[in-house]
Amino acid sequence: MLKRRHYHIDDIESCVLCTSQEEETIAHLIFNCKFNQHCWAKIGISYNSNSSRIEARISAKENYSGRLFFEIFTITAWNIWKERNNDIFKRINPTHNSWLERTKADLSWLRYTVSTDLSDYITSLVNNL
Ligand SMILES: [Zn+2]
Repeated sequence: MLKRRHYHIDDIESCVLCTSQEEETIAHLIFNCKFNQHCWAKIGISYNSNSSRIEARISAKENYSGRLFFEIFTITAWNIWKERNNDIFKRINPTHNSWLERTKADLSWLRYTVSTDLSDYITSLVNNL
């Protein structure tokens, strides 16, 4: 977004999560970043990383065998985004552990918005992370 608006801010042009010097594109941030690939594997979502981000998202849904794909995908991506923002705005180094704890907390909140059987499913999912 900043690049499209012609801002020149060197510090945030490359990915802060994996320090790979990769440009921080949406595709990199969500699907191709080494830091995030660990997160997706931990949550049980796999995808074809050699495709566009739309195709990767479609393959993620097709490969996912659990329930509540959209909610779990969104919470996982949201917490990856928060790890990234914590580094940039608060100078807090991203860690898989902090991502995991935040993701588990958000998934636990999700239990209050779904039916009992889905709540039990989420509890089991969180307990196995
Ligand atoms: Zn990265």
